[in-house]
Amino acid sequence: MPELYPLHLLNKKPNFYGFSGLDRSAHIRQDEGWLKILEKQGNAKVVFSWRSQSMVNLDKPGEPYATILALNVVSEIVNKADNVVFLGEKSGIAYLGIDLSSIEEDRLDELIPSVGVFTDLRQVGPLLERFEGSLLAYNRALLFWHQKNKFCGSCGAVTRVTKAGHQINCSNTSCGQLFFPRTDPAVIMLVHDGERALLGRQQMWKPGMYSTLAGFLEPGETLEEAVAREVWEEANIDIADVRYHSSQPWPFPGSIMLGFYAEAKSTFIRRNDNEVEDVQWFDVNQLRNFASYGKSLPRLDSIARRLIEDWLETKV
Ligand SMILES: [Zn+2]
Repeated sequence: MPELYPLHLLNKKPNFYGFSGLDRSAHIRQDEGWLKILEKQGNAKVVFSWRSQSMVNLDKPGEPYATILALNVVSEIVNKADNVVFLGEKSGIAYLGIDLSSIEEDRLDELIPSVGVFTDLRQVGPLLERFEGSLLAYNRALLFWHQKNKFCGSCGAVTRVTKAGHQINCSNTSCGQLFFPRTDPAVIMLVHDGERALLGRQQMWKPGMYSTLAGFLEPGETLEEAVAREVWEEANIDIADVRYHSSQPWPFPGSIMLGFYAEAKSTFIRRNDNEVEDVQWFDVNQLRNFASYGKSLPRLDSIARRLIEDWLETKV
């Protein structure tokens, strides 16, 4: 890939957890001996995952960074890992992900150098350097998929990891089912009536936080229909003019968020299901001074925040 970050694909700033500029180098996955080859080349580095938590160095308050170690200093860990996957290459370095989920928590310290702590990526994501955030997000999503596919969904036999972690094969030769990494598409949309934005909140969120409406795409639906359905279910509002904004990998645990704007054709809110606790219209002034109303916007690393901020920027 010619550029460190492929920002020419966008006409706006990139969302968190994507646009890493990582070359996925799919040719490396083809060789069953890929790990030995990379060990020999000596240019590989690894990131660590344990039960969907990522290893991060938290020594400097407010300045976390991903724990990334050279492959050739962690060969003992590789031998004890549940799984080792190839993520891709960047600037001449090959990046691998190591899953240690089967190791009991009190044994981790013996196995791994004390150069970080296993942390939920959501706790540190906005503070990480963008490439590191994207790398850990990718690794988290891929290893979560592995954790959920240890047995064949067709016949129940144990599965075998192939293609450097990018394919899983059923070990039962009479079945032979192949599985590929899964990403669940979800739509997320800022609905507006020109002057106000429609935001909602879920009961489990921190008090006062409101965000754009969202939901998973269902089989047989277009993205536009999913946007309209979710807005109808959550607010009983009719919409038109669904426009794509941008997308974001969201590995909590394995989604891609597809961001849209849409125009409201009606404004009276009535909730049709209990997915959201509250839905309200907020005008530009309210949103710009949200804290003074005892409310907060969604997290900095979310596409929901981008949708709201980009919409506010269009309002002078
Ligand atoms: Zn099978």
